[in-house]
Amino acid sequence: MGYSAWRIFREGLRSNRGWEPVWREPEPKPRYEVVVVGGGGHGLATAYYLAREFGIRDVVLLEKGWLGSGNIGRNTTIIRSNYLLPGNQPFYEFSMKLWEGLEQELNYNAMVSQRGILNLFHSDAQRDAYVRRGNAMRLAGADAELLDAAGVRRMCPLLDFDNARFPVRGGLWQPRGGTVRHDAVAWGYARGADRLGVDIVQNCEVTGFLMEDGACVGVETGRGPIRAGKVAVCVAGSSSRIMAKAGLRLPIESHVLQAFVSEGLKPVIPGVVTFGAGHFYVSQSDKGGLVFGGDVDGYNSYAQRGNLPVVEDVCEGGMALMPMIGRARLLRMWGGIMDMSMDGSPFIGRTPIPGLYLNAGWCYGGFKAVPAGGFATAHLVAKDAPHPTATEFRLDRFRRGHLIDEKGQGAQPNLH
Ligand SMILES: Cc1cc2nc3c(=O)[nH]c(=O)nc-3n(C[C@H](O)[C@H](O)[C@H](O)COP(=O)(O)OP(=O)(O)OC[C@H]3O[C@@H](n4cnc5c(N)ncnc54)[C@H](O)[C@@H]3O)c2cc1C
Repeated sequence: MGYSAWRIFREGLRSNRGWEPVWREPEPKPRYEVVVVGGGGHGLATAYYLAREFGIRDVVLLEKGWLGSGNIGRNTTIIRSNYLLPGNQPFYEFSMKLWEGLEQELNYNAMVSQRGILNLFHSDAQRDAYVRRGNAMRLAGADAELLDAAGVRRMCPLLDFDNARFPVRGGLWQPRGGTVRHDAVAWGYARGADRLGVDIVQNCEVTGFLMEDGACVGVETGRGPIRAGKVAVCVAGSSSRIMAKAGLRLPIESHVLQAFVSEGLKPVIPGVVTFGAGHFYVSQSDKGGLVFGGDVDGYNSYAQRGNLPVVEDVCEGGMALMPMIGRARLLRMWGGIMDMSMDGSPFIGRTPIPGLYLNAGWCYGGFKAVPAGGFATAHLVAKDAPHPTATEFRLDRFRRGHLIDEKGQGAQPNLH
């Protein structure tokens, strides 16, 4: 069923009785050309691009819960391509370009809203770092502008500019950054993949791998074994647990990241604003709620809930940047499990096991990467070669010494 303004009008006249389920609920077959594990953004996008770009339609996607139950439905919805390093920037800019055409391509309203992202700086050294980043972005074809304090004040007058400890000196502005409705991305890709013939199976947990002569030839699931020519694992926060079943130890730690939503307010935040003197980022949803977050909880965990010290830290960041937030009531908060890699950058690569491919290590920035991550993973699986924008995301980069440490933090995953 196609979606259009005419269709909405017509269904309105028919008491909305004509809408059909967005995807089928098929029984899994015993064998597929490709099995994709994980029904988050990256798994769904991988399945979609396998079918659409590379003509591989004999694909099943296996999700242990329901679509959108993982981080794709838990994030703070920010998209941007404001990266510095050559291993990262072209990939995230490719993703941004895919976001820009996504809704038309999928015929699905994902509420892609390019309202801009503003990274504030509070010192001369930080300004220099943002100038460098902005130049790297422009060299890679992305958009970036440097604003002084007056420019930021015109855009966002409610900030605490003269905070004695953290005065706002300016910001790096990416006008094409913004937000996208996160769960609509999962539903849109699911619908697109389903229409191209991909089987999407929910409530089907992968519990192990079928191995023959050292190669992966399928998966064990709660609904029986499924054989496959190739298996792509896209399970984000569960990556280390699942890959351990194939005997692989990943350079990944799992940490919780929390998100917060306030009561609905009149428009106060123009796009996305990030605080440069602490870890706090905020945007405003179309319903008016301030959507914000900060650091990961510092300890390893597979629980989808966080702890109070980080709540306090996030709220302190918010108060330092925009004291008005102290008068807004908090409506909701939740947590998701982040697959934090040792250098803060992702993996889209082959594993040492033939037939087994990995998409992981998204830390807390993998939502913006969903279109390019899915495209590049599909490219890798279909052609057995990395996509040109994802050549650096190899699993063996630590052994080769080719880290992509965007923040320069070293091998301390909770700091990336
Ligand atoms: C609070 C929060 C805020 C964030 N904010 C942002 C942001 O603003 N911008 C941004 O770019 N990124 C953000 N992120 C990060 C981003 O959401 C993730 O990096 C990204 O969603 C991870 O990829 P995914 O969508 O494929 O993961 P998920 O949606 O987690 O998908 C993985 C799926 O695998 C399934 N699975 C796990 N084990 C199995 C199994 N054994 N068998 C079958 N299925 C299995 C899970 O159920 C899950 O559905 C945020 C994350 C959180 C938690």
